[in-house]
Amino acid sequence: MKIRDTILPVLRPVGGDEEINAIREVIESGWWGKGPKVAQFEKEFAELVGAKYAVAINSATSGQDLVLKALGIKDCDIINPTISFMSTAVIPLWNNCTSNIVDVDPFTMCLDPEDVRKNLKSNTNAIIAVNQAGVPAPIDQIRSFYDGFILEDCAHSCYTPGAGSKGDAAVWSFQAVKTMPCGDGGMITTDDKELYEKLVPMTWLGISSTYSRIKKDDCLSGKPGYSWDYQVDILGYKCYMIDLQAAICLEQMKKLPKHLQIRRRVQKRYNEELAGFIQAPPHSETVQYYCAKVDPEDRDNLISFLAEKNIHTSVHFKPLHLYDIVKNMNQRDYPVADVEWKKLISLPCHPGMNDCDIDYVVYWVKAFFANKYPNRFNIL
Ligand SMILES: *Cc1c(COP(=O)(O)O)cnc(C)c1O
Repeated sequence: MKIRDTILPVLRPVGGDEEINAIREVIESGWWGKGPKVAQFEKEFAELVGAKYAVAINSATSGQDLVLKALGIKDCDIINPTISFMSTAVIPLWNNCTSNIVDVDPFTMCLDPEDVRKNLKSNTNAIIAVNQAGVPAPIDQIRSFYDGFILEDCAHSCYTPGAGSKGDAAVWSFQAVKTMPCGDGGMITTDDKELYEKLVPMTWLGISSTYSRIKKDDCLSGKPGYSWDYQVDILGYKCYMIDLQAAICLEQMKKLPKHLQIRRRVQKRYNEELAGFIQAPPHSETVQYYCAKVDPEDRDNLISFLAEKNIHTSVHFKPLHLYDIVKNMNQRDYPVADVEWKKLISLPCHPGMNDCDIDYVVYWVKAFFANKYPNRFNIL
């Protein structure tokens, strides 16, 4: 097969006139910051995921941090899984906590409940449960022996039915390569009214938003209805979402069913056509990443081979306990993650892919194995 002359990225966002027009509307409205689009997005997103409250923020990372700060979770121990993005390992450090990294289940690559139980400390006041690649973390099992706070990391779960409903609060990501991207952005969802009311002003230095202090009709007139004064009695930060981001999210939300359908189609075709060559990942409705497994001896060679064919791949994720920043506080064995992560390779999976792109990946993955094991595979 002829080598394509453009790179097939492992992940990429897809947008068009709808997003461009939505941004144009925000720019022309004169209200670029946190305003009506954010309010609408929070409402619609809460409905989508079945949560009572939603707070839009500028990233999932700052959202997770903000939840801990709102609840006063600090100076303690926080459990998080070794297969995850750097955020979940580092956020505990921001709050003067130990980042207690535990091993994962070899199939789901989510927290291993047994290892959570083994590593619980008397001062473990929170667990960050990551739905890895959209596969639900075993929160029910963890609840059977732990009754503290669970933060559900739904960065890969937008949207899997039921996601976000098991943790005490959930945090979602709209970062550029996530399933419902806006460049950068996130959402905190919870059913806890008290937490919600605390979080809102904390996204802006403890101040209530100017938009909420204005009567709609008076938005830009400066006439009565605008209240410039405010009081601050809570330590806040600066991490709210703005209308430019929310406008893109609202359009991406309309396209979400279509985009997820494309991701699931990619997953299904890889699963069927690469059976026998790779180990398929566990099923996930969102398919944030297609995390296949291959023999560790083949993994890096396959990555290079595909790169030569202009197919980009990735690894989700290198275990977090291997990074120096948290290594010292996690000097123990990770028998599952240390073996399993060396098998991981994420194949291209995003809504910009058509059937030709899938054919292309399938062909070259098969070709790699046929070259290596000519007697076992005869596909060329
Ligand atoms: C992407 C990601 C985050 C961080 O999301 P941002 O919106 O980029 O801050 C957190 N957790 C996991 C598991 C992620 O993949």
